[in-house]
Amino acid sequence: MAITSLHFLGAVGTVTGSRFLIEQGDHLVLVDAGLYQGQKELRLRNWQAPTFEVSQLDAVVLTHAHLDHCGYLPALYRAGFRGPIYATPGTIALANIVLPDAGRLQEEEAFHANKYGWSRHNPAVALFNEEEAIAVGALFQPVAFGNDHHISGTLSTRFDTAGHILGAASVTMTTDAGRRVVFSGDLGRSNHPLLLPPAPRPDCDVLLIESTYGDRNHKDMGLDSLASAICRTVERKGTIIIPAFAVDRTELVIHAIHQLERSGAIPIVPVIVDSPMALAALKVYRAARDRRDCELRPEVFGEEDPFTTARLSEAATVEDSKAATARGDSTIVISASGMATGGRVLHHLTKRLPDPRSCVIIAGFQSRGTRGSQLAEGATEVKIHGAYVPVRAEVVAIDAFSGHADSDDLMAWADTSREAPQTSFVIHGEPEASTALRTRLRGASWTAVIPKFGERVVV
Ligand SMILES: [Zn+2]
Repeated sequence: MAITSLHFLGAVGTVTGSRFLIEQGDHLVLVDAGLYQGQKELRLRNWQAPTFEVSQLDAVVLTHAHLDHCGYLPALYRAGFRGPIYATPGTIALANIVLPDAGRLQEEEAFHANKYGWSRHNPAVALFNEEEAIAVGALFQPVAFGNDHHISGTLSTRFDTAGHILGAASVTMTTDAGRRVVFSGDLGRSNHPLLLPPAPRPDCDVLLIESTYGDRNHKDMGLDSLASAICRTVERKGTIIIPAFAVDRTELVIHAIHQLERSGAIPIVPVIVDSPMALAALKVYRAARDRRDCELRPEVFGEEDPFTTARLSEAATVEDSKAATARGDSTIVISASGMATGGRVLHHLTKRLPDPRSCVIIAGFQSRGTRGSQLAEGATEVKIHGAYVPVRAEVVAIDAFSGHADSDDLMAWADTSREAPQTSFVIHGEPEASTALRTRLRGASWTAVIPKFGERVVV
């Protein structure tokens, strides 16, 4: 029987670049193939050649469709990977939206960098292109929640709901020796308005638990701060820009505005979804509602469409996008990317940040070093497309839209299995957040370790 080892290739001491390699003899399986985002020294890791033989990689198993978990797939495709990628149907539907978009963004960035000469590479090249991102989609193989599925050598996998975004799963990998390694994936919070809470933690010998919010609890879920920010901005005839992750966060923001409109807490103003990717993701959520998907809360199946507002419109083209904020009236613009690292939201920010009447609502976790995190921390200027833009608009960070379990949620989930794992690895968090969760797990007499980047352990 071959020794099984686990190699930490990402999401260690940071929240991006999730990649965990399971090695069993000649068989390699990668759990998550995420992109590094945020700080430059992390992003540079995307360009390093894989530390393993891509030709020996039997399969990839994906927890969910966020880019920091699946965005490296097209780069693996470029490196020659043609094996199966196992994921839930929801993850496949969403990944087939976000990956081509990421490919387009990569190409656009390389184009801009060449045009304005701000790249260190000469000429600037894309990490992968749209064509590769579409091609890698053909490798997906759907696996339903709750079924054991043989994937490679002597390894099988099972997906359990993680309640983070549609399709999101915790993954159990079982070896022929009966050893079970559980990857929490990103866990949703217990009171997500659309998705049911995560399934109980599967029994396991080794646990990898995320710690994005390992050092804090979400504040009250009330939407009061969103309502008052919208009211203030409408009063002074400003525009509201909400950078939002195209997947899940856009749905949550629309759902929240819908509720506030219905309760009369905010005036009815035009809401524009300005992100082709968000619009496509919205369709996937609507289809899940139509088929009464088991991941959704039963309330979502009520008569009213939870994914609309009184005056919702869609900006399908760049012209629509530019026209969206050119009007004089107060408008709410929801646009990607969620951490303002790219996408159409940059054009809105360039235009609106210098305007003190406007308001930027930061609606989710912001990785360190991103423009979103700079804005949330009170930056007086941010650099966009090579130029500094002054920040005179109001900036409000709202916790209510987090798609992540908080510290108490993580501990509660960890405790939903009969026994503690032999070893737990605290991953997917900034160092303070991972350390805080490790301390709490140790307090419960668990063996909890923060792995080092590149570390290999026997499981
Ligand atoms: Zn995620």
